[in-house]
Amino acid sequence: MSAEHPLKFEILATDSSTGARRGRLHLAHGTVETPVFMPVGTQGTVKAISQEELVEMGYQIILGNTYHLYLRPGPELIAEAGGLHSFINWRQPILTDSGGFQVFSLEHIRKIGQDGVVFRSYVDGSYHEFTPEKVMQVQSALGADIVMAFDECAPYPCDRDYAREAMERTHRWAERSLAARNPGQAFFGIVQGSTYPDLRAESAQFISSLDTDGIAIGGVSVGEGKELMMKAVEWTVPYLPTEKPRYLMGVGTPEDILEAVARGIDMFDCVLPTRLGRSGSLYTSRGRVNIKNARFTRQFAPVDPDCDCWCCRNYTAAYLRHLYMCDEILAARLATYHNLYFYARLMERIREAITEQRLTDFTVEFLARYRSHLPEEVELSAENETRRENDNELRRKRSYAGTRKAQSQG
Ligand SMILES: [Zn+2]
Repeated sequence: MSAEHPLKFEILATDSSTGARRGRLHLAHGTVETPVFMPVGTQGTVKAISQEELVEMGYQIILGNTYHLYLRPGPELIAEAGGLHSFINWRQPILTDSGGFQVFSLEHIRKIGQDGVVFRSYVDGSYHEFTPEKVMQVQSALGADIVMAFDECAPYPCDRDYAREAMERTHRWAERSLAARNPGQAFFGIVQGSTYPDLRAESAQFISSLDTDGIAIGGVSVGEGKELMMKAVEWTVPYLPTEKPRYLMGVGTPEDILEAVARGIDMFDCVLPTRLGRSGSLYTSRGRVNIKNARFTRQFAPVDPDCDCWCCRNYTAAYLRHLYMCDEILAARLATYHNLYFYARLMERIREAITEQRLTDFTVEFLARYRSHLPEEVELSAENETRRENDNELRRKRSYAGTRKAQSQG
């Protein structure tokens, strides 16, 4: 793609019975088939998995977190290495987020002004400011194919006045981000508006009026529940231009993805397959299972007989369970590989189903099987689990920052 056109989006097919689209993104570092799931590479790595393995699974784009890469190793060092692609040896497209979600999640250590947000580093306690201009400058140094506008992700629940204030700030920051963008990178604006239909509509119309390459729906997957999440999509999509790619940020479970694809979403990212994999939760064609469960002790067969991934072709559920019970690091590698492979195959089948005009049938068949959980499996909802783990992660980081501060003062 040339500097004038850092993104070209082709729609190859639309599903006649739903709002689903099958498309193709043409970006500076290659082509991405949509609907697409983007694994999250927070610190320049998709945890436990090598870049070569991602390619092997068929992934064409990954996500990097601006907030984390800004703090460590810093945009200067990444620029010196020739950009994020070169630094981490990933030759295909990358999307970087704006850091908005992270700075607004660290609630007690921020100061929000008209200009930006002041926050403390969880690494060493130092103070930093993110403004739209600063965030665009950092994302330019990282060199991703797609960059995101700096936005305020309002918490849930959120009263109407605050939701409006956060939305209006997001709109002003979107204009400033757009003005400060590197024209060689594709730029996405972010729709906010919390759980208020009129604010979602207003935000969708405003963001759609800007000269962006794509549009994201933000402020979802923050604890509002599945129903309100899908409502947010339904309140937003009718106002979005059909010719631009649509990205639902931070979503989701296989069920969420199927529902959102049917409502016209093209791009997804989520930490679920990687994070749950590390904690021993594996996606299978018959639902998500906890490999630590005693019923796997003697399952000398793959965890998912329908999966042909490297893990399932070579290792039994009994062995995986043993690795988890002993806290062996191979457990995290195998489970993450399997879960990411499960998501990659799901997206591939979704794309095929759209092309063949049978997305609804595919969804019904997939879910009938996926929801046939074995009766002894007691499952928390994936969302609650993610939130709890997010909270734990933040607590850990906060206490680490506190320890570091105490050490530096001592
Ligand atoms: Zn597998």
